[in-house]
Amino acid sequence: MKIFIRLFLFACLSAHSLAQTHFNVLVYHHVSENSPASTSVSPAKFREHLQFFKDNQFPVIALDEALSAVVQNKTLPKNAIAITFDDAYRSIYHNAFPLLTEFDYPFTIFAATDPIDQKFADMLTWDQLREMKQAGVIIANHSRDHGYLVRHRSLDELWLAQTRLNIEYAQQRLIDELGNDIPNWFAYPYGEFSHSLQALISEMGYVGFAQHSGGVNSASNFTALPRFAAAGIYANTKTLKTKIESVPMPIDESNLSDMLTDNKQPRFHAILTDMSDMNSTVNCFVDGQWQDTVWTGQQSFELVSTEPLSQGRHRYNCTSPSKTLDAFYWYSKPWLIQTKE
Ligand SMILES: [Zn+2]
Repeated sequence: MKIFIRLFLFACLSAHSLAQTHFNVLVYHHVSENSPASTSVSPAKFREHLQFFKDNQFPVIALDEALSAVVQNKTLPKNAIAITFDDAYRSIYHNAFPLLTEFDYPFTIFAATDPIDQKFADMLTWDQLREMKQAGVIIANHSRDHGYLVRHRSLDELWLAQTRLNIEYAQQRLIDELGNDIPNWFAYPYGEFSHSLQALISEMGYVGFAQHSGGVNSASNFTALPRFAAAGIYANTKTLKTKIESVPMPIDESNLSDMLTDNKQPRFHAILTDMSDMNSTVNCFVDGQWQDTVWTGQQSFELVSTEPLSQGRHRYNCTSPSKTLDAFYWYSKPWLIQTKE
C-alpha cells in the first residue's frame, strides 16, 4: 500500500513537472553536543534540519531508491535528498534515530567495522545496528579500520591488494552481523580517493561515495559520488537550502585529473556537456576563496590555484545560476596533494 501511494505521488509530481533527474546527498557524523564541533550537529540543530526539510518540501528518500532512479533515468521528486552518516557513532542511535523515526525519514550509515568490533564507547554496537537495520536503515561499508587508503603507495599493487582485502573484510563483517542484504557501496574514509582506488572499487562492483560537494545524476561518476557536508560550519539552513536546491553542473567526468596529485597548483579543466540552461558566468572558489576562471573554448573553462596549496585535501568549487530555475548549477573538484619528499 505504501509503495502504491509512493508511485501515485511520483506520477502526480511528474505530471506537474515538480520532478527532476538528480538528487543531493547529505553527510553527517555525530549528532551530539559532546563531540568535535567540525563534524557535529546538536540534537536540537538536527531536529531543526528535519523540520526544515519538511516545511520546505525537500523530500527525504532512501539512498537505494534514489540511486536506482538515476541509473534507470527515472524522475525523482523535486529537491529530493538522501541522508547519510559516516563512521557509525553511538549518538546516531541515541539522538538521530529517534528523530528520523519521528519524521519517518530513511537514512544510511557507512560503518567502519573494527571500531565496532573493538566495542569503543563512542561507537554503535552491533545490536544497535541490527535494531536500526530492522527498522529499515541501510548499513554500508566505510572500510575495516578507517585508514588513509590513498596515503602512501596507492599506486603500488601490493597496497591496492591490501585495500581490497580491507574493504572485503569490512563487507563480510557487515554481512555476518547484519545479514546478506548489505549494498555494494563504499564511502572513502576522509573522502579521499584516487584513480587507482576508483578503478579498484569499480572492478569490485562497488559504488563509491566521497565527501566533496555536488549532486548525483545519471552522468555522475559512480566511483566517487559527491555528498554535501551538513554539520559543523555547514549546518546553517540558509546555505543548506542553496545546496539542496542545486543542480549538478553538466561536466564531462570521463577525463578528469586524479584527486591525488603532486602538483601544488593543480589544473581543473572542465568541459561542459550542456550549457543550454546555464549562464556563461561560472564562479569558482579555491578552498572558499573566489578565483578567476579562464574560458578555453565555448564550453570549457580552466581553473588553477594562484597560490601553491599545502599537503592534504583541497577543493575547487564552481557554481553558475540556472536560467530557468531559481537554483545554481554546482560542481566540486577535490584534490589530495601529496608531494614527493
Ligand atoms: Zn569516516
